[in-house]
Amino acid sequence: MKKTALITGGSRGIGLGIAKRLAYDGYNLAINGIRDESRVGEILDELRETGTEVIYCRGDIASKKARVGIVDRIREHYKRLDVLVNNAGVAPQERKDILETSEESFAYVVKTNLQGPYFLSQSVANWMILQKKKLIDFKGCIINISSISANIASVNRGEYCLAKSGLSMMTKLFAVRLGEYDIPVYEIQPGIIETDMTTGVKDKYNQLISDGLTLQNRWGNPDDVGKAVSALVNGSFPYSTGQVIMIDGGLSIPRL
Ligand code: NDP
Repeated sequence: MKKTALITGGSRGIGLGIAKRLAYDGYNLAINGIRDESRVGEILDELRETGTEVIYCRGDIASKKARVGIVDRIREHYKRLDVLVNNAGVAPQERKDILETSEESFAYVVKTNLQGPYFLSQSVANWMILQKKKLIDFKGCIINISSISANIASVNRGEYCLAKSGLSMMTKLFAVRLGEYDIPVYEIQPGIIETDMTTGVKDKYNQLISDGLTLQNRWGNPDDVGKAVSALVNGSFPYSTGQVIMIDGGLSIPRL
């Protein structure tokens, strides 16, 4: 039976970069997002051209009901889930100084970027434990896409930084809890990646990059992250559960 991966937010940006790599690696895919399936049909067909099977599990990961629906659909269709990539995430709708953040924006970002992935991981982890006991070839793996914002303070989007640093602790928590089952949990911290999320701050980052913000003088792209996920899920880091992989072109190295 082919292995299966669920990628939240997998129909564009970083998630699509990950989906393309895992399709190439021969995984069956469950792609989650909030757009209607009719709007992502072409992308799903493109992924299917690799010969892989792809289903779309529409649903807001911040909603308990939607999360249950996503996992049920995968259970029904593929009957197994080997890899969960917690990638879906949002920026605050408006970047605001922490002296002015609204409670609504805080709740929206934390629910989507932290509470959703936490409880989705809980439900998938419980299923992975059962699969580990039943399927001889089952390994299991969870990957969280957090951000350099887990450690770097941006006072104009405090709620995003807090959610990402929470996701970072979540990586450690699940790595500890799933250690006895030998199900690895990893975290990737992307830096500045060219996607829809960063369109609005393109000029600002172009300038910062040309001024030397990153050691590697370019934007990151979704495939930079896709390649890292591929290496992790395919067992290239077998003794490193709980670790963080930086995909930031050296941005986070402190310099004097
Ligand atoms: P995009 O805005 O380009 O894409 C976000 C994806 O997440 C979309 O597929 C979207 O679905 C999905 N999504 C958003 N909200 C929900 C939700 N409530 N439920 C289900 N799916 C949802 O973002 P990126 O590709 O840039 O970012 C992906 C991840 O990487 C995020 O977690 C982000 O925080 C993180 N990241 C991004 C960086 C960057 O520079 N771009 C840097 C560091 C981290 P749909 O397509 O249906 O709208």
